[in-house]
Amino acid sequence: FNAGIGSVFTRDETHELDACVMDGITLKAGAVAGVSRLRNPVLAARLVMEASPHVLLMGEGAETFAFEHGMESVSPDLFSTEVRYQQLLDARTAGKTQLDHAAPLDERHKMGTVGAVAMDLTGNLAAATSTGGMTNKLPGRVGDSPLPGAGCYANNASVAVSCTGTGEVFMRTLAAYDISALMEYSQLSLQEACERVVMEKLPALGGS
Ligand code: ASP
Repeated sequence: FNAGIGSVFTRDETHELDACVMDGITLKAGAVAGVSRLRNPVLAARLVMEASPHVLLMGEGAETFAFEHGMESVSPDLFSTEVRYQQLLDARTAGKTQLDHAAPLDERHKMGTVGAVAMDLTGNLAAATSTGGMTNKLPGRVGDSPLPGAGCYANNASVAVSCTGTGEVFMRTLAAYDISALMEYSQLSLQEACERVVMEKLPALGGS
């Protein structure tokens, strides 16, 4: 997966992972961005939501916060795999920042950014997104995944969404929130709202 082990490489051959979790009951959210020493960034995102007054912590501060709350520190090398390194070399040759599933490791089993949405027995919604981002991204680049409303959103009044795709465009369109807003304000069905955003609004700005 493009999260945890098998995370994509940045231009400088490092790994920087982003993750977010959101609770549709309370609209609470937690996120981390640009972490490289946490095996499961999404667990740190949950800690930010539950044990801090903040929504998004980045880099070293996020890692220190997670360690202080009992998470283990791992070596950034843990995330490196041969196939991901080969993807970086290919993206470099192409001179591109590459979306993970644009050049899948295995066409039959596309495994990229990890997204999850859930509904409990009483209809409460939650969403989570975890990623290494895009291959050959600049160090310091943060994508849509750790941003509530862009790559992750949950609201009991409408929908739970986890996105994967060209992060910059998802940020500019607030893709996850836009689906929720279309359902809430325009009474679109989930299917209609997703089609509007995924098939029309994102491609119109060059996203996928
Ligand atoms: N949306 C992620 C990002 O731009 C990448 C992905 O979904 O594969 O960081």
